[in-house]
Order: sequence, then structure tokens, then C-alpha cells
Amino acid sequence: MPRGITPRQPSRSGRHDKVSSKPLPAKVRAKRVAPVLKKVGKIAAPIAPRKAAAKEPTAKTAAATRKGYNPLAPERVNEILNRLDQRYPAATCALHHNSAWELLVATILSAQCTDVRVNMVTPVLFQKYPTIEHFAALQPEELEPDIRSTGFFRNKSKSVVGAARKLLSDFGGQVPRTMDELLQIPGVARKTANVVLGTWFKIADGVVVDTHVQRISRRLELTKNDDPQKIEQDLMKVIPRDKWIVFAHQIILHGRALCIARKPKCADCPLENLCHAADKTWSTVEIHKSALASG
Ligand code: SF4
Repeated sequence: MPRGITPRQPSRSGRHDKVSSKPLPAKVRAKRVAPVLKKVGKIAAPIAPRKAAAKEPTAKTAAATRKGYNPLAPERVNEILNRLDQRYPAATCALHHNSAWELLVATILSAQCTDVRVNMVTPVLFQKYPTIEHFAALQPEELEPDIRSTGFFRNKSKSVVGAARKLLSDFGGQVPRTMDELLQIPGVARKTANVVLGTWFKIADGVVVDTHVQRISRRLELTKNDDPQKIEQDLMKVIPRDKWIVFAHQIILHGRALCIARKPKCADCPLENLCHAADKTWSTVEIHKSALASG
């Protein structure tokens, strides 16, 4: 570097300093601006406090209004149950039957089939095979033509004949009245066992979770699960035990009448202002994105 020439020092104006992204407080800004305005002959007007603009509802504010909302709060759940009681006071199982065995068979046949169809098939079936022994003596293939119209008739035939044989071999020809025993019967899972226990024996061991209960429990935010067993556990936690049986019957009726899978009839629904389902067709309340029929 040639002698006598010194390098330029950085300006002290602050323009090279790291600019803070944080705006200065209004008071500090006014203090700094006022002398400058005076110098250039302008009178610094007092800075009026800014009027707060009306806030548009945003996702954030919507979330804030939801803060404290608990879909599982006992008051909310009780209100749902009360309204279901009023709307469906005489809810019961729609499958026609005259014994625990007939109900067991009808429930096995109702998988992936309407109750109306099952009710058309079972009177003829029980006339043809009036006892458990008659079913146990059949080969599954022999039963197939009689239940063909209910769908999945090969598996259902195996289940019904297998169930009859199991009852004769292990349970003295009687339908057992405990969950553990019922689950040992071919073709019987928790849903079927709960139907038989609740409807025939009036024993509340769990909650029937069929497609309607699954869909509507999610819409009503009583569960976030998709798996029927987990949904049942969730419902058992929030619904009083003495309501387990009737709740499922009521929700199944509700699912058929109003809360149908596609285009639920929300404008006619007694639960409307308690329901935040994302797929509602009409709503007077905030919609919750996660309250969907399926996850
Ligand atoms: S308001 Fe609509 S989505 Fe909610 S429970 Fe009623 S019918 Fe179903």
C-alpha cells in the first residue's frame, strides 16, 4: 500500500451495521423523527395511536376459539346421548330373531349385507333347519344356496355350520353368554359377540362397532381411530356403561336415516350444532378438518 494513504473507515451511519428485523418501538421512532422534522421546518404532529383494524377470522383465530374445546367433555357426550334418546327412543336390533342362536346366525349373515336382506332370508332358513343340530349336520356347501343372496355365502356357510358344531361340542348346545366363550365360535368376532350379548342377554360387555358406528363416532369426534377395536375402546371410555347397548342401536338408526355416508342430512339432524364434521352438508358451527368419516 502506498504511503500516506489510509484505508477508508466504514461509515458510522449504521447503514453497514446488521439491520435488525425487529421494528423499533413507536415511542423511540417518534423521538428520533421529531428533531429531524423540526430541522426541515415541519412540525412534528403527535403520533396518534393506530386504531386496531378489525381482525379477519383466520385459521389461527379459529384454532384459538377452539382452544378449550373438548369433544369428549362429559357435558357434550351427555348432550349427544340425550338427543339420541329423544330422536330414537325405541332403538333396538333390526335383525329378526326368536332365540340367541337365530340372532347369532342372523348377525353372521349380516356382514356386508343389509338387515332387510337378512330378514328376508332367515325366516325361510329357520323353517328349513329349525334347530342347531340341523345346522350342525349340514355340509357347508349344502347351506350355500339358502344364504347366497346375503353375499360372501361360502365363508358364511362355513361359519354358521362351524358355529353350530362348536355349540354342540363345547357349550352343550347353548349360545354362551361371555365374550371369551363367544369369541371361540367360528365366524364370531367382537361385533357379533357384542350384538348377541347386548341384544339377547342384555349384557353390556362392549360397544357394537359396525360401519355406521365407525363413521359417526369419527364425525362426532368421539374417536380418531379407524380400527373398530380401537374405536370400541374409545367409546367405552367416554360413554357410560349403561348406554353401551342402546348407543350402538341409536347410532345405527341415525346412520341409516340421516348421517348417511355420502351427503349426510345435516339440516335435519338433532346433533347438528354439536357436530363439527368436515363433510357436513350444512353447518351452523365451525368445521373441524380432522372430524372426518374416515381418517
Ligand atoms: S350434523 Fe350431519 S354429519 Fe353431523 S351427525 Fe348430523 S347428519 Fe351426521
